[in-house]
Amino acid sequence: MLRLTDSEGSTISLDLTPTHVALMCSESEIYSWDRSGRLLSYFDGTSHFWRGLSGEAVLRRTTTDHGKQVRRLAPAYADTVVREAQQRCALRQWRDVEPLAYDRIRYYDPAQDRQSYRTIYGRIPIFPPDAYLSVVLQATVGCAWNRCTFCDFYRGEGYRVRPPEQFRAHAVAVREFLGDSALLRKRVFLGDADVMGVGTKWLEKDLQIASEVFPDRPCQGFCEAVSVLRRKSTDLQRFRMLGLARVAIGAESGHDPLLALWKKRSRPGDVAEAVTALKHAGYSVGVIFLAGVPAEFEAAHLADTERLAFRLGLGEGDLVYLSPLVPSVNGVEQANALHTVLRPLEANGVRIAAYDIRQIVY
Ligand code: SF4
Repeated sequence: MLRLTDSEGSTISLDLTPTHVALMCSESEIYSWDRSGRLLSYFDGTSHFWRGLSGEAVLRRTTTDHGKQVRRLAPAYADTVVREAQQRCALRQWRDVEPLAYDRIRYYDPAQDRQSYRTIYGRIPIFPPDAYLSVVLQATVGCAWNRCTFCDFYRGEGYRVRPPEQFRAHAVAVREFLGDSALLRKRVFLGDADVMGVGTKWLEKDLQIASEVFPDRPCQGFCEAVSVLRRKSTDLQRFRMLGLARVAIGAESGHDPLLALWKKRSRPGDVAEAVTALKHAGYSVGVIFLAGVPAEFEAAHLADTERLAFRLGLGEGDLVYLSPLVPSVNGVEQANALHTVLRPLEANGVRIAAYDIRQIVY
């Protein structure tokens, strides 16, 4: 930790780690950047600003009554925070210590970086919260199903699978784009909507490519239960051996009529069978349940979701995500009610976590 003096004579602290740079001007003014000079976060004493690689940012504030306010910021607005942070870090004293890190932060161009991001990725609308600070690699783009009525993440977008050699070129482009900031990202998220939606041989090849380009990082991805059920147990074991360690399954609800109404392809029976197969093959699993369903379905949704969750054989290392629908009038209340009935799972080592899709930025 370095102690420096700013232009007004105040002492500020600078922390230079292998993965990031943090500047603490006071308890209510803290910045952090990755090792490529991109602003990651800013805390002003009451609000937390998180910025993703896309340039989008989220502002989270705890209100005086301990509630939470979340606001997404457009890139142009987020850029003003980037510029202010750049001004704040402009202390020649630390340039002498680490000129490369200093120059990368000081002369980082957010508009140019966004352009590079768009060229490589297009759009990453969603991934699970535990994939935050992963390297996202798009083996596929979009969602092959794209019909669930509650989901518009990929609405209007075509679906395509990248053949392995195209996927390799994409992974190499991501590595170049991330530069030294890749050190911060300890896992790979294999996008987009269904990691097992591609053929067995291609998925094996994709996993090999991911571990060659980003070594020593376990892979994870979203997964449709029906796609798991198409695999032989030996395929699941082979994917596991090749580095696919965790999958997140959108179960959404245990109440089948609601899933039929939502045009969900995988049903509760599929989810139960798929999770059993995955656990048997050594995966850790995240299961996503939605909250904020219409009042006429609420009682059945809570009861059937509880029943399904306890059938899944979840244990140590597994996750249950409770995700309020956006928009919904009672999403948070229903998520709390689900948390209450599912709490006994925690005794088995299952973590139950909130999944607020408004806070996801890559
Ligand atoms: S399968 Fe998943 S990503 Fe595709 S439409 Fe349904 S919820 Fe959305």
